Amino acid sequence: MTLPHIEKADAVVIGAGVVGLAAARALALAGREVVLLEAADAIGTGTSSRNSEVIHAGIYYPKDSLKARFCVEGSRRLFDYCASRNVGHRRCGKLIVATDDAQMAALEGLRQKSHANGAIEVHWIEAAEARAMEPALSCIGALHSPMTGIIDSHGLMLAYQGEAEAKGAMIAFNAPVTGGAVEDDGILLTVGGETPMRLKCRIVVNSAGLTAPMLARRIAGLPPETVPANYYCKGNYFTLAGRSPFTRLIYPAPEVAGLGVHLTLDMAGQAKFGPDVEWLDAKDGEPLDYVVNPRRGDGFYAAIRTYWPGLPDGALLPGYSGIRPKVQSPTHKTGADFIVQGPADHGVSGLVNLYGIESPGLTSSLALADLVTAKLD
Ligand SMILES: Cc1cc2nc3c(=O)[nH]c(=O)nc-3n(C[C@H](O)[C@H](O)[C@H](O)COP(=O)(O)OP(=O)(O)OC[C@H]3O[C@@H](n4cnc5c(N)ncnc54)[C@H](O)[C@@H]3O)c2cc1C
Repeated sequence: MTLPHIEKADAVVIGAGVVGLAAARALALAGREVVLLEAADAIGTGTSSRNSEVIHAGIYYPKDSLKARFCVEGSRRLFDYCASRNVGHRRCGKLIVATDDAQMAALEGLRQKSHANGAIEVHWIEAAEARAMEPALSCIGALHSPMTGIIDSHGLMLAYQGEAEAKGAMIAFNAPVTGGAVEDDGILLTVGGETPMRLKCRIVVNSAGLTAPMLARRIAGLPPETVPANYYCKGNYFTLAGRSPFTRLIYPAPEVAGLGVHLTLDMAGQAKFGPDVEWLDAKDGEPLDYVVNPRRGDGFYAAIRTYWPGLPDGALLPGYSGIRPKVQSPTHKTGADFIVQGPADHGVSGLVNLYGIESPGLTSSLALADLVTAKLD
């Protein structure tokens, strides 16, 4: 068998989701010659187009974690970026509601956490004030986060792509990276698809989302013990038939693996509920099931009616789903942080691996991209 010929590249980013595009943009702006390899035939077909499209304020994450820092910093930068680049967004605010005393205590914990993280605008409001803001709401108290917003995530990705390409970056679609090897003078990637090739690179950024750990395990010479175990946690959405009675995002008290079945709005005003938490049993490389089982809607009605008793029967329609790239198993009771490993972490010059980039990865995309470039300096 003849091996495909070897091409050369300065910096290769694997995966054209929001994080890969942000990294490609940052590297291109820093003067690198960037090639972005994407397995699919378009940008943003993975988790980046299967999420809540919320610009989070930094409420939920442990102090000093990457998630906390990047969410607080990232959201401010993202609002500025959207304004300067005409990316659709709206700072609509959000209410996190308590419907019993235990949840009031949980929300006070969240308020303290958000202030420790720098999200100091988050404040308590009484039930009457919450109802004045959102008359359909039922709660005994709520936290108001005025800095939370929504974003057109595809518009954001197009903006990143446009800037990267304006600085000379090239995107190759239908170009799945199948593996690689660390060599003395760089990293040799093997690329499958329509035009298989081998690509010798000085810099590789693995932002392959759900499959980033699997891909990292296929890079010969990368210490395997540095690659975390990976798990898939599906989040299903149901859309609301008819007009939303809410103008802000409405969240219940959070759960362990997700933020609870919440109401978000898209830029067109369509309301959706979700994502719930459904751990998948898929093995690496197996196709992932994105179909929303209509029967899961039963659990949604009960959860939503705790804070919106007026939800009519039959108003929820199966929507879409996204899958969280988890680096912790379902038995862990605390969430894991983003993992961004550079040469100082795994010993391979020129390589950055991003693992577990679940929420708030969209909000944090600019900050994550800066960390990628910093890890390579
Ligand atoms: C249900 C859900 C709700 C969320 N809600 C929010 C939210 O409201 N706000 C927020 O800030 N964040 C949210 N997130 C998180 C956010 O969506 C992700 O952090 C972000 O989209 C991750 O982007 P990514 O570029 O790392 O991954 P992806 O978008 O998955 O992109 C990875 C890309 O890599 C490509 N790829 C994979 N393997 C290869 C390969 N071998 N070769 C070439 N290409 C490859 C894929 O085709 C894909 O295009 C949510 C996530 C989920 C699952």
